[in-house]
Amino acid sequence: ISATVSVSALAHNLAAVRRHLEQTAAAASGLPPSIWAVIKANAYGHGIEQAVAGFSKAQGLAMLDLDEAVRCREAGWGGPILLLEGFFEPSDLDLVDRYHLSTTVHNREQLDMLARARFSRRVDIMLKLNSGMNRLGFSPAAYAAAHERAMLLQQQGVLGSVGKMTHFACADGPQGVTEQLAVFNSVTHKMPGTISVCNSAATLRFAEIAVASETQSHWVRPGICLYGASPFADAEAASFGLKPAMSLRSEIIAVQDLKAGDSVGYGAIFRADRSMRIGIVACGYADGYPRHAATGTPVVVAGIRTQLVGRVSMDMLIVDLGPVPAAGVGSPVSLWGEEGPSVDEVAQAAGTIGYELLCALAPRVPVTRD
Ligand code: PLP
Repeated sequence: ISATVSVSALAHNLAAVRRHLEQTAAAASGLPPSIWAVIKANAYGHGIEQAVAGFSKAQGLAMLDLDEAVRCREAGWGGPILLLEGFFEPSDLDLVDRYHLSTTVHNREQLDMLARARFSRRVDIMLKLNSGMNRLGFSPAAYAAAHERAMLLQQQGVLGSVGKMTHFACADGPQGVTEQLAVFNSVTHKMPGTISVCNSAATLRFAEIAVASETQSHWVRPGICLYGASPFADAEAASFGLKPAMSLRSEIIAVQDLKAGDSVGYGAIFRADRSMRIGIVACGYADGYPRHAATGTPVVVAGIRTQLVGRVSMDMLIVDLGPVPAAGVGSPVSLWGEEGPSVDEVAQAAGTIGYELLCALAPRVPVTRD
């Protein structure tokens, strides 16, 4: 089993997103926003180094963990870096300073830490508003005071730019962004600063809210779409011109001939209703393949689409070779990626989302860069 990460697909997806933003901005006679490519969680399982190579034309990179930010610098990224949750203790601020990071600030404790810190240069921040997701951020009632305090720290030479940010809970669904955007606008419209509100779903469906102007800069924060997976349950990534960046491949390691009534795998949850050939594939949940994918989950064997039968086990899964009579031991198997199926199809069959499968790629799976 191995995973291949296509740096050119990452670059292609970034360019596709940028084109979409440029077209939206042109239609609104405005300027396109800048892009922070979100590369948290080891670049959604793709590897920080691959992401730095693939997103070399992004204006910035954004992630949660300080050590991933440091890895970006070590991989040669010299551009802006935004920490999406900021820092948690004063010693983190030494790294923020040393590696020239920008940071999200979402609570008073962080403002207190910034006020006490000794920096060699000003730190740019994005002040986060909790506009309705109720995860992180200053409440609408507390935001003005936080902004005022940040502006004071700016006057004192501690902070550089102070931007305004929020995160949408429902940009991928029918609820959309209207309610949260209204809260964000009503709280922040009189305050100066860069705006950043859009994740992938909002970037793809509501890019008009991120159109910038000479006087108002915007940054979007797409993640999943840059890896060629979809943030939406009702739209495939390919429909936005996106290409899968990760391909998970293995091969058939054994073949069994079943007769009607035979069962396969743990729990015998699949029973053949006729004679059939099945292939055993070297890939299981210990590789990050979802155990909840079972009979019916799409898979591609030797270029032909077929399906899983029975349960996924730790190191193996089982596929129906009916549609692929020529397949045998050694035949290539695509679990998801370039040859199909899409990671989103597999995720849907397993009752989850593509994000989870990409992030859950197990460390034992070797990743090669293509
Ligand atoms: N911005 C923030 C603050 C996030 O936490 C995330 C990820 O959840 C993103 C942007 C990117 O989201 P997505 O992968 O849906 O584009």
